Amino acid sequence: MSETKRVLLAEPRGYCAGVDRAVETVERALDKHGAPVYVRKEIVHNRHVVETLAERGAIFVGETDEVPEGAIVVFSAHGVSPLVHQTAAQRNLKTIDATCPLVTKVHQEAKRFARDDYDILLIGHEGHEEVEGTAGEAPEHIQLVDGPDSVDAVTVRDESKLVWLSQTTLSVDETMETVRRLREKFPLLNDPPSDDICYATQNRQVAVKAMAPECDLVIVVGSQNSSNSVRLVEVALQAGAKAGHLVDYAREIDETWLEGVSTVGVTSGASVPEVLVRGVLDYLAERGYGTVETVNTANETLTFALPRELRPARTS
Ligand code: SF4
Repeated sequence: MSETKRVLLAEPRGYCAGVDRAVETVERALDKHGAPVYVRKEIVHNRHVVETLAERGAIFVGETDEVPEGAIVVFSAHGVSPLVHQTAAQRNLKTIDATCPLVTKVHQEAKRFARDDYDILLIGHEGHEEVEGTAGEAPEHIQLVDGPDSVDAVTVRDESKLVWLSQTTLSVDETMETVRRLREKFPLLNDPPSDDICYATQNRQVAVKAMAPECDLVIVVGSQNSSNSVRLVEVALQAGAKAGHLVDYAREIDETWLEGVSTVGVTSGASVPEVLVRGVLDYLAERGYGTVETVNTANETLTFALPRELRPARTS
């Protein structure tokens, strides 16, 4: 049966523009200032990336009070609340903000609606760093809605001044279900001015959905704390994949997952370097899954400029 074995490889997958920028920010900061460079939280939610940067001299801390006075600290791609900026300023830290511009966009929306005295329903996962950062922009106006089942508990001041915003890395379908239930309860609910779930999250979900119905197994490369990677497994299963697993490395694949499997789908979260996907493809090729067909649903060309502090000086 080995001739029927094949891999479907999702495209787009892996690094998004925000992750690429955040990782390069730490690398450039290390080049420019030398080690150590402090980083508040994981720069992106990927074990391999964090370990590799740590080997180069990045020191990952939970909070800015762990950073020595006056040192350099990079803020992660997930964004920070204004309180974190204030605390860093009080400690005279030199900050480099690697917040993804698409997260910053949601912060701006939150600030604007709070200024206009709206109640803001922020759909997202409780405890996620991005949600903490966004909610911190206007804590008195924002309440978290953690999925469709949280809708019943939501109460608001004025149903006619209500808007929903969201974390950038959610499942599109589940978020739309949450919004549907919110709108049932609050018919005047306003939509965000533009999509908060980012292009990269959406594109990776569309690609995995396209291949999932043909897959006996989908392997998503990504870390357990990576929201968009975890969502890819869920989306694959909902779209018809018979099984789905999240792995950081090829070595975490359990041989028994491949029993009776003809088609394996492979994709990766937005924080995952391609070398880890290659590792999975090599692992599969060694077990007879050498034929790889790409399932391409979008081409991505977006890039973001580095934070100002790290851009080359202008010569003119
Ligand atoms: S997943 Fe989206 S919001 Fe998050 S860093 Fe990437 S582009 Fe930015």
